[in-house]
Amino acid sequence: SKLLEIRGLRARIANGREVLKGIDLDVAAGEVHAIMGPNGAGKSTLSSVLAGKPGYEVTGGTVRYLGQDLLAMPADERAREGVFLAFQYPVEIPGVNNMYFLRAALNAGRRQRGQAELDAQQFLKAVRERLKLLDIGDDLLRRAVNVGFSGGEKKRNEIFQMAMLEPNLAILDETDSGLDIDALRAVSDGVNRLRDPARAIVMITHYQRLLDYIVPDRVHVLADGRIVASGDKTFAAELERTGYAYLGDAA
Ligand code: ADP
Ligand code: MG
Ligand code: MG
Repeated sequence: SKLLEIRGLRARIANGREVLKGIDLDVAAGEVHAIMGPNGAGKSTLSSVLAGKPGYEVTGGTVRYLGQDLLAMPADERAREGVFLAFQYPVEIPGVNNMYFLRAALNAGRRQRGQAELDAQQFLKAVRERLKLLDIGDDLLRRAVNVGFSGGEKKRNEIFQMAMLEPNLAILDETDSGLDIDALRAVSDGVNRLRDPARAIVMITHYQRLLDYIVPDRVHVLADGRIVASGDKTFAAELERTGYAYLGDAA
């Protein structure tokens, strides 16, 4: 079944030029999709538009998420409905600790789904289970969100947030900055453990190497605001050899 159906999605930076020029993408539950492509193609814009981040204006097309009109929902509702974008939360919030922050976000989602909220004790139990699953030490929890984290720790923290919030659609935008080996391992181990028949994961990445560790079901190239090529897991290796040049003017 299709969890996400994007048809002809067009969007621009508020008061700026059009960056997404007609995106078509289908993602089924249980699948991992990788989106690659040259810098400036619109990959981060796509993730922002899906998460409902402010500063972007949709100028055409539709997005269905679990049968609902995703673009009609405010950003916080999308989050409660199970759309998770790593990096959507503030990078530094001194004094706010992971536990408090996550419990509030988790319970907002549970209310939305008509489930009982977790009390402190139930929440702690859930935290311990996820930490174990992800092989993370519990010192992570005592630190303020992202304050003083190394690259690998930030990634581990994001994956932990994702594990706690149990999204149906997780969008991981790895940005343009290099992943060190710690971060690469944190992302790939975490993502592999969080693969689930009910969950789709869309990974935006520059790093072909990451796809040696996380074997995607589909690989897409986004160039100049459109998805210009798609393939199965072998497509990433092909891109590694050929680069984006053969896509011609589109890239
Ligand atoms: P990618 O993630 O594929 O590298 P982006 O989605 O970040 O690409 O950017 C697509 C284009 O939109 C780029 O030309 C970028 O400079 C521009 N852009 C992105 N965000 C903004 C913004 N907030 N203001 C102005 N231009 C932006
Ligand atoms: Mg970029
Ligand atoms: Mg980007």
